[in-house]
Amino acid sequence: MLAVRLENGVVQVRKQAHPRRPEGFALIRLLEGGICNTDLELQRGYYNFRGTPGHEFVGEVVETDSNSKEWIGERVVGEINLACGACDWCKRGLGRHCPRRTVLGIVKHPGAFRELLTLPLSNLHRVPRGIPAEHAVFVEPLAAACEILDQVRIPKGAPVAVLGDGKLGLLAGQVLHAHGAEVHQYGHHKDKLRIATEAGIDTRMPKNPPKAEYGWVVDATGSSEGLRQAIQMTRPRGTVVMKSTVHGAVQLDSAPVIVNEITLVGSRCGRFEPALRLLQSKKVRVDKLISEILPLKDARTAFRRAAQSGVLKVILRG
Ligand SMILES: [Zn+2]
Ligand SMILES: [Zn+2]
Repeated sequence: MLAVRLENGVVQVRKQAHPRRPEGFALIRLLEGGICNTDLELQRGYYNFRGTPGHEFVGEVVETDSNSKEWIGERVVGEINLACGACDWCKRGLGRHCPRRTVLGIVKHPGAFRELLTLPLSNLHRVPRGIPAEHAVFVEPLAAACEILDQVRIPKGAPVAVLGDGKLGLLAGQVLHAHGAEVHQYGHHKDKLRIATEAGIDTRMPKNPPKAEYGWVVDATGSSEGLRQAIQMTRPRGTVVMKSTVHGAVQLDSAPVIVNEITLVGSRCGRFEPALRLLQSKKVRVDKLISEILPLKDARTAFRRAAQSGVLKVILRG
């Protein structure tokens, strides 16, 4: 089978043996995989990664243990954290924080950019028929956007600033808009902001964003400057949701956080259920976020495209 391999910054597509399927795992044929900024960071050497990347995928189950044959032929998406199932975190349903977890395509579990992949059955969610594969591939990042509402209570009608017009920012804007918040999406790219406008979201490109204006600000800029900006825009006792993973130290003046008693909330992966519901009800539209769909064998080109500015989601088709 074909598998993408990342090593020393180089993307290769290689032939390799089918993966061994451990008990309790499903063997899944890749239908589509989405390249995310994390994959590009892995390429740059983050996590000292070498191996097969890919954690955003939709696939078809082709093999399981004999007692779970009902999964065979199902279209599935999969949660990316492989948890131990036994620790306190896992018992609370928070395997996403299991200290012994491995992570699909990121930490010690080969990723989804290969013709066949494995994941525990307990990680899988069936994809409803009404959701096409090229939309289902957004479930994982959309779940990360939905995580905001699991962490922070935002009243309907409340003004919320979302900073950033990249993939995650645009998803977060739509999730909060669907929730009923009054979203103001801030960005620098007219063409990307247009996607938010078409979803009914108020978009803004000011030179000087308003200070101490919002009770909730989501930083999805992907830049270290974003957090500083978000803190400035938050009113006293407000909350900043940190959605940008920036590598290396971020310079931060803590005085405004302390003086204005601002709450900083780190936010990562989320539950898949609300993301699937939003796609099925079409309350979140992802078509416009797709820049290009390429076959798995062209992964090298796909990674190059995904890294270009102005490009949103590049999808690999299995
Ligand atoms: Zn991702
Ligand atoms: Zn655990």
